[in-house]
Amino acid sequence: MIALSLAEIAEVVGGQTHDIPDPSVQVTGPVVRDSREVEPGALFVAFVGERVDGHDFADAVVRAGAVAVLASRPVAVPAIVVDDVQAALGALARHVVQRLGATLVALTGSAGKTSTKDLIAQVLQHKAPTVWTPGSLNNEIGLPLTALSATEETRFLVLEMGARGIGHIRYLTDLTPPRIGLVLNVGTAHIGEFGGREQIAQAKGELVESLPSEDEGGIAVLNADDPLVRAMASRTKAKVTLFGESGEADVRAENVRLTDSGQPAFSLHTPSGCSDVTMRLYGEHHVSNALAAAAVAHELGMSAQEIATALSEAGSLSRWRMEVTERPDGVTIVNDAYNANPESMRAALRALAAMGKGRRTWAVLGKMAELGDEALAEHDAVGRLAVRLNVSKLVAVGGREASWLQLGAYNEGSWGEESVHVSDAQAAVDLLRSELRPGDVVLVKASRSVGLESVAQALLETG
Ligand code: ATP
Ligand code: MG
Repeated sequence: MIALSLAEIAEVVGGQTHDIPDPSVQVTGPVVRDSREVEPGALFVAFVGERVDGHDFADAVVRAGAVAVLASRPVAVPAIVVDDVQAALGALARHVVQRLGATLVALTGSAGKTSTKDLIAQVLQHKAPTVWTPGSLNNEIGLPLTALSATEETRFLVLEMGARGIGHIRYLTDLTPPRIGLVLNVGTAHIGEFGGREQIAQAKGELVESLPSEDEGGIAVLNADDPLVRAMASRTKAKVTLFGESGEADVRAENVRLTDSGQPAFSLHTPSGCSDVTMRLYGEHHVSNALAAAAVAHELGMSAQEIATALSEAGSLSRWRMEVTERPDGVTIVNDAYNANPESMRAALRALAAMGKGRRTWAVLGKMAELGDEALAEHDAVGRLAVRLNVSKLVAVGGREASWLQLGAYNEGSWGEESVHVSDAQAAVDLLRSELRPGDVVLVKASRSVGLESVAQALLETG
């Protein structure tokens, strides 16, 4: 982070200094909450968790070089003590981003935030030093920690913002106010918690409501193909830029196709020109993510050609998202076990079908969580789609939702060994170990809570 003295930090967070001999000493290293990430010059943030109390590590982190601890009680080592550590962390992030010369880009959406954030970061890095959210650390703790990792050199700060309810995004934009705000889509992720898609749109739209006006440089980047996102244009004072496949989009894709290896290719059109893109990522859903990244990069002054080159080189920075590995025996494992929702299930199945031309394809699928009343219909539809795409074998893993997947496939005309239901991950591994043949392609995908990456890992170890 940018160097700040302990006195300044204490003032910014409204804290009391304890056991600090010299308040002019500066924090020069990272701000961290995990004691294993402490480096000399760091500020350690002590949270009280359900199992672990960060205060217990106070001694250890100072020995490892931390300058002080941000804590909720004195800890016998240099500390800044506050009532609410999370609020203090947020206040510090807000102070630091005000001092940075960086442009803040924030994005939200139901699916694809992390993938798109990784794309934006890789494209913008071609232009200037960029800092971005690691993995999916998109909440009230991860977001300030990311913002605090920026330095004087940072020109672009790309922040993923997650929402599980009304007011969540507003809280995050108050901490780190973006100049560019991107909304990807309003899907059905977390619909059970929200109550419906309108409510999800209400919550995600808080991002564009927070933006500065067009005169002050605010830019809302919205998905023209998603009506609920498109409608957010009326909720912002910022300039609106649209991306998507629809004709009215400012940044759009034409001639979209999947290559034989399942990677999307298209011709990118921006107001500054057009250029061809062939992605290294798998799955057509990445076209929308790439267009979103292109729209942001266009607004930050990159040409269509520069953007297309960067998009064609970009890989995934986050694991278990359409991770394609070929075993020595020629079996291809597609590990998309990070998460699943109806949109991403469909996209992954279509990628599997494209990759599997002339090969035997397996879809090893588990439940999609948090679908509320739509759960049965959505699982049924995914099972049916697998059959319509000619996926050779469906292995539905887990409880009730898996049986709905299998039933959907059955009702669409897939019987016998073509669609099976197994109780758990181990049963799926046992089945696949005995059945896989060289050349087969296996997609593994379910919601995070199912933990199907264990299946992908076991299959890779077998090979
Ligand atoms: P989280 O809410 O867990 O942080 P996220 O919004 O960051 O999720 P990703 O991690 O990028 O999303 O992707 C989650 C899943 O959604 C992956 O399985 C991925 O293949 C799929 N996905 C990515 N982009 C899209 C998209 N534009 N539309 C639908 N599904 C997508
Ligand atoms: Mg994410």
